[in-house]
Amino acid sequence: MPNKSQIDELKQILLERKVNILNNINNSRANIDQLKEQDINDDLDYAELVSDSFTEGMIANHQLDELNQIEESLKKIAAGTYGICDMCGVTIPLGRLKAKPFAKFCTECRTVYEHEFVKRAKN
Ligand SMILES: [Zn+2]
Repeated sequence: MPNKSQIDELKQILLERKVNILNNINNSRANIDQLKEQDINDDLDYAELVSDSFTEGMIANHQLDELNQIEESLKKIAAGTYGICDMCGVTIPLGRLKAKPFAKFCTECRTVYEHEFVKRAKN
């Protein structure tokens, strides 16, 4: 288990990341609103508008996903279960948590999880 000061450090990273994501999402929404207000003169503009909005949407979705994971990690810190693999219960190495503070699986379980996910997606 990471010790208290290590957890505090990771919590700080999570909180900063959370603020960044919230700002990014707000900016994306503002950009999309701005695009929607602009007059669409021809097909080319429309194509650009659609692809920009689509990209923004993809980024926002990805960020919302990360935001959920950050929230989950913060709850775990509060509950004292942070840094434990959701699947097998081993302590996630500190190096992995530092690289990805919202990791919920150890490296091995992550590999299994991704493998299963890819397999399901193909079927
Ligand atoms: Zn595990």
